[in-house]
Amino acid sequence: MAGGKVYLVGAGPGDPGLLTLRGRECLIRADEVVYDGLVNPLLLRLTKAHAIRTSRVDGPEGRRLDQDEINAMLVSLAKAGKRVVRLKGGDPFIFGRGAEEAEALLQAGIEFEVVPGVTAATAATAYAGISLTHREDASAVAYVTGHEDPSKPQSALDYEVLARFPGTLVFYMGLHRLPEIAAALISAGMSPSTPAAVICRGSTSRQRTVTATLDELPEKVTTAKLRPPSLIVVGSCVTRHERLAWFELKPLLGRRIGITRPEAQSEPQIARAIELGAEPVLMPTIRIEPIEDWSAVDETLAHLADYSWLVFTSVNGVRALLGRLWQTGRDVRDLGNIKLAGIGPSTAEALVEYHLRADVIPEEYRAEALAEELRSSVAGKRVIWARASRGRDVLPRELEAAGAEVHELTVYRNEDAESLPATATAALEAGELDWIGLSSPSIARQLAKLMTEDARTFLGNTTRLVAISPVTQAAAEEVGLPVSVTATTYTWDGIFEAILGAEAD
Ligand code: SAH
Repeated sequence: MAGGKVYLVGAGPGDPGLLTLRGRECLIRADEVVYDGLVNPLLLRLTKAHAIRTSRVDGPEGRRLDQDEINAMLVSLAKAGKRVVRLKGGDPFIFGRGAEEAEALLQAGIEFEVVPGVTAATAATAYAGISLTHREDASAVAYVTGHEDPSKPQSALDYEVLARFPGTLVFYMGLHRLPEIAAALISAGMSPSTPAAVICRGSTSRQRTVTATLDELPEKVTTAKLRPPSLIVVGSCVTRHERLAWFELKPLLGRRIGITRPEAQSEPQIARAIELGAEPVLMPTIRIEPIEDWSAVDETLAHLADYSWLVFTSVNGVRALLGRLWQTGRDVRDLGNIKLAGIGPSTAEALVEYHLRADVIPEEYRAEALAEELRSSVAGKRVIWARASRGRDVLPRELEAAGAEVHELTVYRNEDAESLPATATAALEAGELDWIGLSSPSIARQLAKLMTEDARTFLGNTTRLVAISPVTQAAAEEVGLPVSVTATTYTWDGIFEAILGAEAD
């Protein structure tokens, strides 16, 4: 039996973009992932591996595994020959007990590697505009555990030394002891007016920073109701926060946006939401599946020369048809002189992936406009429409009315999701979603079916729906979903623009 291996990987502090390239590589190749409560679950999208969470930082369910159980689990998975990623928040060797896991692996004779991560101290301060070292402020940094009770005589920390430290102090795990920590530093001689801060949930959409003088910080933090995970930062570098706090200026900071698209295609929307400071909540209402019987598609691909136009109304359509073309031993040369039409910019971009340029993209991204655009060129021509297993039939009707012979070719299946992910339902029922983007009539209809009564009570006020287009808006309203805003550009970027506009009002 080939021996397994364990990779102790730092997941970074929360923003999924702060995972290292090496960490990503390990996740892609993993058989098993064992991750802790601080890890952003969005990172699990990078892996096909079976994933086990060892603890949860929020939520009542789930049991916290103790360290011995985790060590034993890593050893037994590796002994079974698996490539295991032990994914830990921040850096595995900074207050992460990663070295204890490495010792256990060493003892069991299991090979391991350590992949460092961006630790909370560097990430949260950078995102809060606080430079841990600075020529004028601090020539040293200390990472300190705040977990210990400073009043206990057996404390491993000497507060007399910490109070005299010539630089910035960063306390991990210390929020619940903030009053004792501040008092201990002050009574050891640190000035009560030393600038200090608590940064909560650094690098995530829920990041908040509270600054005050050391003596006033505990009260201010209590009033602001900051929650773990949080860091305490003490030192004059904190004063830069006010000017350099770039991240906390993001327009959608603290907003949660439900992404209803099929999960496999939500990557650009996840990235966009994070870029704007929001937290994407994945709640796919439909699934995209391959068709089971390809014979009609293969038959058409063998006779492409008989057609003048190939029309796509979705990215999925492009990928399914052109993917099949490749899989069956053909390539884009088989498209010959066929003209290509797409419904909008995303479809056009999908064509570019195959080095193809769309001949026609309508100005308005909807079937009616596409038909209008094609009207004068399709009369008497044979047209292939690469379509989903269901959807609107405006396009073939209008093209036929214009004199085209339309061959409707189903190239992928569009299926309803049976339920929403548990995290999405919990957020919906707690009224914690600010926006839900609806990007098609079928998504709107399916969301209506999957929404519980509890979740519906928030619609229109706490949780607002944004429709991609008037067609989707009408479909949503027909099934009783109140739409608050409708995009004027009928794309997901248009949805974000509409949210930004509404938030700015
Ligand atoms: N290995 C981790 C630290 C684990 S100890 C790392 O390198 O970051 C857990 C503590 O880390 C928390 O109590 C908190 O003090 C800090 N922490 C982790 N993530 C954080 C975040 N996003 N923002 C602020 N503090 C965080």
